[in-house]
Amino acid sequence: MSNFKYRKDEMYAEDVALSRIAEVAGTPVYVYSAGELTESYTRFSSALATAGLNARVCFAMKANSNIAVIRTLSDLGAGADVVSGGELERALAAGVSGSAIVFSGVGKTPGEMRQAISASIGQFNVESVPELEMLSYVATSMGANVDIAIRVNPDVDANTHHKISTGRQEDKFGVDIARAGEIYARAATLPGIAPVSVAVHIGSQLTDIAPFRAAFARVAELVTELRAAGHNIHKLDLGGGLGIDYGGHTPPPVEDYAALVSETVGDLGCELIFEPGRYLAGPAGVLITQVIYVKEAEVRRFAIVDAAMNDLIRPALYDAIHRIETVRRPVTDTLIHDWDVVGPVCEAGDTFAKGCPLPPLAEGELLVMRDAGAYGAVMSSVYNSRALVAEVLVHRDSFTIVRARQEPAVFMGYENLADWQH
Ligand SMILES: *Cc1c(COP(=O)(O)O)cnc(C)c1O
Repeated sequence: MSNFKYRKDEMYAEDVALSRIAEVAGTPVYVYSAGELTESYTRFSSALATAGLNARVCFAMKANSNIAVIRTLSDLGAGADVVSGGELERALAAGVSGSAIVFSGVGKTPGEMRQAISASIGQFNVESVPELEMLSYVATSMGANVDIAIRVNPDVDANTHHKISTGRQEDKFGVDIARAGEIYARAATLPGIAPVSVAVHIGSQLTDIAPFRAAFARVAELVTELRAAGHNIHKLDLGGGLGIDYGGHTPPPVEDYAALVSETVGDLGCELIFEPGRYLAGPAGVLITQVIYVKEAEVRRFAIVDAAMNDLIRPALYDAIHRIETVRRPVTDTLIHDWDVVGPVCEAGDTFAKGCPLPPLAEGELLVMRDAGAYGAVMSSVYNSRALVAEVLVHRDSFTIVRARQEPAVFMGYENLADWQH
């Protein structure tokens, strides 16, 4: 299944040994498999097609916005879900056509709206009444008429980590579904915008299908109500959120997800938009890191590695656990189950795994953190003035550095002394 597998004595990404990539690109480095991206995309879109759904898949770029990754997906037919002017610029640079772009997010600025209207994007997902009024104003001033969805908040608990749950009434996202009728009525009176769609996104890394069912069923009822009130709703944006297996999770098969979409909204005759991020990119990436020191303390055994929380923040931010393996194929039965894998940053949160099963490790050993293709490199920073992590894309037996490591000299180039310090 996975394109990251042991072959002979070590792990490969497709037909390239990870040790070779580490040698050429250095560590830490993210490695993405174009084959894995392709398989995930195909699995997702085929499941929708098999369920008889008229669907467009807009990759949620906030999960991984490297332009080579976006190009890989757009070559397969994916559009893009963007949340900023910067992501819009990337989507266009990667070759996504404007009409295949959806703009989400609670805080679009008038400048970003103008940029998106100039790019003739397919749809704006509007999250509040003030945003609705601003978009109407900006569109009218440009002589444009743009398709919009109101993002509704169905008050469904996604049963996921609280920091990535977005569909409860107390969350900042969307408008209360109970007020949607009134807001669509308001939208219909405003010039420059056409309320033709409804959007919903209840959270990320959902491993239970029931919250999707509850949310989509509420949206279906809403569409019926809105149509009865005279609104021409012919599109539905069902967001992203489908979870992946980080080890120990059992996310629902995408076929079950597609079937429930068909059951809940299939009869409405709407064109559907999906915004998967993690599902497409997560399993398609790993982070390779090298052991700097092995520190055997009284009670614990630490592998101190050259990746840190600035390179992969998910463990610190979401208590996420990434499976960690050696690049070298471990000799069977040599696993020691008490390795703590930690980064060099002076924060207790800079810990990747505790009690991790790994073979005896030595300095220089290469480790792989699995399923790091989503919300990994995009959240990387230069905290501690550590170089911004590099990214590599593999395709069969080829690989390319698709983001060069940014050394401190590069980012220090944007700093200078104050005028009076010369
Ligand atoms: C984050 C987000 C997504 C993608 O979520 P995943 O869990 O990565 O699939 C899609 N749509 C919206 C509006 C989002 O905020």
